[in-house]
Order: sequence, then C-alpha cells, then structure tokens
Amino acid sequence: MKKKLTYKSTRGGGGEVTASEAILKGLADDGGLFVPERIPQLDVSLGDMAAMTYQETAYEVMKLFFTDFTEEELKECVIKAYDSKFDVDEVAPLVEVADETVGSVHYLELFHGPTIAFKDMALSILPHLMTVAAKKNHVENEIVILTATSGDTGKAALSGFADVEGIRILVFYPKDGVSPIQEKQMLTQKGDNTCVVGVEGNFDDCQNGVKAIFHDQELGKRLEEAGYQFSSANSINIGRLVPQVAYYVYAYARLLEKGKVKEGETIHVVVPTGNFGNILAAYYAKRMGLPIDVLVCASNVNKVLYDFFRKGSYDRNREFFVTSSPSMDILVSSNLERLIYMASREDEEGTAKRMKALSQQGSYDVTDEMRRLMEDFYGGFATEKEVEATIKRVFEKRQYVLDPHTAVASKVYEQFVEETGSHKAAIIISTASPYKFTRSVMNALKNETATRGKSDFELVDELCRLSGVPIPQAVEEIRKAPNRHDMVCRKDEMQAVVEKWVMG
Ligand SMILES: *Cc1c(COP(=O)(O)O)cnc(C)c1O
Repeated sequence: MKKKLTYKSTRGGGGEVTASEAILKGLADDGGLFVPERIPQLDVSLGDMAAMTYQETAYEVMKLFFTDFTEEELKECVIKAYDSKFDVDEVAPLVEVADETVGSVHYLELFHGPTIAFKDMALSILPHLMTVAAKKNHVENEIVILTATSGDTGKAALSGFADVEGIRILVFYPKDGVSPIQEKQMLTQKGDNTCVVGVEGNFDDCQNGVKAIFHDQELGKRLEEAGYQFSSANSINIGRLVPQVAYYVYAYARLLEKGKVKEGETIHVVVPTGNFGNILAAYYAKRMGLPIDVLVCASNVNKVLYDFFRKGSYDRNREFFVTSSPSMDILVSSNLERLIYMASREDEEGTAKRMKALSQQGSYDVTDEMRRLMEDFYGGFATEKEVEATIKRVFEKRQYVLDPHTAVASKVYEQFVEETGSHKAAIIISTASPYKFTRSVMNALKNETATRGKSDFELVDELCRLSGVPIPQAVEEIRKAPNRHDMVCRKDEMQAVVEKWVMG
C-alpha cells in the first residue's frame, strides 16, 4: 500500500493529522494552516491528462493529496460535485480571445457553477469531502461551518452545504462591502441549516472575527459539551485548496490538446488575487510538476501583495479601499502563510513569529533567501480606471465581457508582457460571471449617467441585450426570491451571534 500523506500546521503545533482530519478541523489548533508534509508529484503524464474529462482530472489530482480516502469515496465526491450544477459539460471551459495588445490569451472560465464565481469549483465538493471525512473519523458532533466572505465564498458555501445532514453553516459578510447581486444571492438562501449575518466592518474584520472564534478554546469546550464542533469553508481549509489545483492541470491539458503548447513547454498563469488561495493552488500545481513559468499575482488597489512581492515586506497598515472587485478587497491574505512556510524551507518557528508580528504590528519581513525562492511570482495591480478601460476595450474589440476581477488580471497581464516581453502562452483565470457585478460592468461599458437610477436587475437585462451573453440561472433565480435572512451585527458581536444560533 502507498504511504499516506500527512498534514501538519505551518506553525509547528499539534502534530500530524490525516487529510480527512485536516478537512474536518479546517484550521490547526495552534492557529496555523494545514499543509501536506510534501507536495506529491503528478503520476499521470500530461499527454494522458489531455484525454481526460474534468472529473477524471480532478480525481487524479485529489487522490495524491487525500490519501486516506478510498478510490470509491473520492470518485463519488467528484461525481456528485461536478455534475449538472455546472451549466457546461467541460465544467471549466478554456476560451481563447485574440488580443492586439498581448497576442492571444486564454481565459479559464471558472464561473459556470451554481453561484457563478470560481468558489463553486471547490465549494461544490467540500461538503461531500467533509461528510465522508466525518464518517471516516466517527464524528458524532454536529459540524458548524463558520465562514467569512468577501462576497463569493458565502453564497458558494451556503449553496454547497444547504440541507447537508449533520452540518450547519453560518456566513459573515461585510454589510456594505459586497455587490447587490452578491448580497441578494446570500439573503435569499434556503435551507434550515443556514444562517447569514451582515457585519458592520470589512472582510478583514469578518475573517479576524471568525479566526478568533476558532481560537477561543473555552467556547470550543462549551460547544463540544453541547455536541457541536467548528469547521471552516474558507480557503484556509485544505479541502478547498486541493480541488483548485485540478483546474490548472485541466487547463494545461486543454492547451496541449489544442496544440497551443508542446508537452513540457512552460506557460504563465495570471490570477486575480485576494486571500491568495487560487494562486497558491497554481503554485502547488507547479510544484507537482505542471510546467508553469511565472505566477502573475494580480491585485486591485488594495495592493498589499504587489508591495510584498516588490519589497519583501508585508504591511497591512494602510488605507482600505472598496473597489469594483470586492472579492479582492483584502489586506490580510491568509493563504500567503502557506507560501511563507514553503519559502522559508518549512521554518515553523519563523512562520509562527511572522504571523504573530502580522497580528500584533500588522507587518513582517522575509529574508533575501525567501525572496529568491518566491521569484516564481510576479506582483502587479490595476487601478479602478484601468479596470473600467479594460472591460470596455476587451468588449469593444473582442466582444468578450470580463467581470471586474478578471479585468484586474487582464490588465496586470498586459503590464507583465510590456515589462518582460514574454511571448509564452498564458492562462488568465476568469473568476466570476460579469452578471455578478452588473453595475460595475455596465458603468464600464456605458457610463454612470446611463446606469444611474436603474436597479441591478434592469442592468442585467441591458447587459444581456448589449452583449448577447445569456443570463445565468443563478441570477434569474434570485430576481423574485424573498429574503430569508436579515441579521446584522457589530464585529464585536460575532461570537455572541454564533453561540446564540448554535445553542439557542
Ligand atoms: C474569491 C475571489 C477572488 C480571490 O481569490 P483568492 O483565492 O481569495 O485569492 C477573485 N475573484 C473572485 C470573483 C472571487 O470570488
């Protein structure tokens, strides 16, 4: 039998756990993030991958990480996750768009799932993984998923976990920090095991609040006694990160299949980044042997990651901006901790110190050696004006509609090509349907005077007339649906809200 892959905390505490235990816990006991003891290597050739479906690819990648799941269990999770919930058979289509500025680019559309953002790629499978993991570990408690969302995770997690037996889910979102369509999607969520709460604060406040609740051992004990335990649906959960590795492998295989690259030829990937989960999955794919050259990390004006890659110092002490790409309005990118851990050659003590400095002073530095090990990453950012201009240009020249997050990536890729002169094939990760951010998209395509006074749903219809892109089912569904949630709290009330909802 193959040796099982174990997981440990980036901060060194808590010992080794299996994949299923890591998925159940979400966050390690010492506050660190679970990481595999080593990154496994792809054991199927890319040529063979080129003949596989999305589901087959996902299985091939996940089996290498989730070694305590049986083949049957894992395949069943994959089949249940990537089914007709996705509105295209390919699950994640790769669309080529010719572009006069950068030559042709490929957009990997990850928004064909039930909530029309890329979070569906992982959150449609996480509930199945968690249910199997709970059985495997004889969990008798009810699992309480606590989630902080910058807008997209919340709905994707609610949709994935609604009515799943033995699990309930509570989502905190920044009350004034999400798009109206994002908010409506969450507030109309059905399922007696769901709860949605707006927080008077930004995403970082929500995420910090959730982390503090996880960290509160007293509360953990009280919960345990009452028959509950917490887990997380945020990308700090390894059960979210690993399914995301799959689509990078899938995308490369499509380029190979279409003859756009030769086997082994390296490509760039461009990722609109917030919490650093998506791009970290690309890095894992690279470390598994996928021929990726540069990982282009695209930020909006909350450019803490851009500054980090340029200067080697992470500093969240700065002004926070609400932008047209709200899912990237983040100053503390949680998954960066996993990269810091790897770049420091698994220095657990050093990682713990840096994370402590981050929570106490709001900043930390990395060594020159670590910067050298992170040279695979290129940081760039786009301003709000550039995002608007990019949406307009790509639509007018190419009749392809970008959502604002993808437009950030598109613009940063342009800067990257200008700066480096690279001519390699590139994949731009398209993280959301333009219909999720219709007002921003219509402001870009027309102007603010043309959209003023119109409801978001009127703009949905206008975008459809203008672009010919069909309106996704996810938007039609919420048009007339009644709100089912209306709770709002201050950030210092989050814990009380959780306790009340769980234990009454
Ligand atoms: C979550 C999200 C991002 C950021 O992804 P991370 O994994 O948090 O870096 C980008 N775009 C959209 C549309 C998202 O929902």
